[in-house]
Amino acid sequence: MKKFTYLWLTCLVILSFACEKDTEEINNTQPDIPAANRSVGASANDFLSTDKFTTLTIEVDYMQGYQPTTQTITNLRNFLSTLLNKSSITIKLQEIPAQGSETYSISQIRAIEEENRDFYNVGEELTAYILFLDGYAESDEGNQVTLGVAHRNTSAALYQRRIRENSGGLGQVSRTTLESSVLNHELGHLLGLVNIGTAMETPHEDGENNGHCDDDSCLMYWAIESGGIIPGMMDSRVPSLDTNCRNDLRANGGK
Ligand SMILES: [Zn+2]
Ligand SMILES: [Zn+2]
Repeated sequence: MKKFTYLWLTCLVILSFACEKDTEEINNTQPDIPAANRSVGASANDFLSTDKFTTLTIEVDYMQGYQPTTQTITNLRNFLSTLLNKSSITIKLQEIPAQGSETYSISQIRAIEEENRDFYNVGEELTAYILFLDGYAESDEGNQVTLGVAHRNTSAALYQRRIRENSGGLGQVSRTTLESSVLNHELGHLLGLVNIGTAMETPHEDGENNGHCDDDSCLMYWAIESGGIIPGMMDSRVPSLDTNCRNDLRANGGK
């Protein structure tokens, strides 16, 4: 008889934000640090359209020993290329020292970003920052665990230690499939999905899980249940966006 371990692998999206600042007019050649301090979804149109930014640079910092797979990065590039009106998308990988914490709070994650982030918006170049952590989410309790978090308008983090525990083994999804599912999902939040910066063309927000899609086969579904597999992740496929999510992005300036 098969034994199942039930896990609720979820994503955290920080929807309330106390310290949002107005972006001041800045010199066009100076990196715009205040612009990276806004709420999740606030830069959705900046990612999707060419109105303000024509290129995108994503900095991916991973703690030593927790590097994402090469295919995960390729998948991210392909995912964004199909959605964003950008003439180029550059992804820069960098190893940073492992901190060795068992868990990380959002304020710790933000402090690590502030210490290590090298790229901020300048001129027509939009930037984003992804952090792969060597620990778990502080909010984890029992079998309710979080794999990733979108916490500012151009910032997300992945709890890579938890992702590794739940992928790549016997009966588990592949490492790349789980990494890509979580990473693309967090980017989806930065693009304003669902209803957090990109308006809905047709109502499809999950009433019980704000910021998420009500279609359980969509990339933007809130939970990955029972052994780390949601219907869209079967056969080692990374879930894609459903029609409602795609339509929202197109209506907000995306491809
Ligand atoms: Zn989410
Ligand atoms: Zn959807």
